[in-house]
Amino acid sequence: MAGKERIGVYPGTFDPMTLGHLDIIRRGAHLVDRLVIGITTNPAKSPMFTVEERLAMVRREVADIDHGTIEVVEFDSLLMNFAEAQGASLILRGLRAVADFEYEYQMAGMNQQLNDDIETVFLMADVSLQPIASRLVKEIAVYGGSIDKFVTPAVAADVAAKLNQR
Ligand code: ADP
Repeated sequence: MAGKERIGVYPGTFDPMTLGHLDIIRRGAHLVDRLVIGITTNPAKSPMFTVEERLAMVRREVADIDHGTIEVVEFDSLLMNFAEAQGASLILRGLRAVADFEYEYQMAGMNQQLNDDIETVFLMADVSLQPIASRLVKEIAVYGGSIDKFVTPAVAADVAAKLNQR
């Protein structure tokens, strides 16, 4: 008998998408039958890239991992409502050292209260990719530093083009 399809959502801002995100997606994709990457519009964070640009960026970057099992969508609702609407049983989050812990711990705890049937699963990126954060990638790029070790060449070109427009 075929089991129920296991669906996971991986939410984030992806502004821009880094090698850390890609590593978490590769690892997460093994855990589920279908992975829905949810891009938060998150205007409060004043993103560098519009949500349309981030959708296109993430779709392009996951194209070679995707075997018809990864979907990239935007959402601006409560994460738990988004996960329920997708039929997910898992929420995937990446965890970086201590900096993420407090926030992630609190969010997972509150999400558990909202819906105890949807489990938050924390994944660690490859050790070499753990320090990478979108915020720092943007800061380095704004000050003219190289971000080549933190993002794919295509994303580095996106960031350079965005800074040139300014
Ligand atoms: P958010 O605004 O939700 O923090 P991000 O795009 O910054 O969105 O990150 C999405 C998820 O990916 C979060 O769970 C974050 O902790 C995780 N993440 C980002 N970079 C890394 C990394 N280098 N290693 C592990 N997890 C990461």
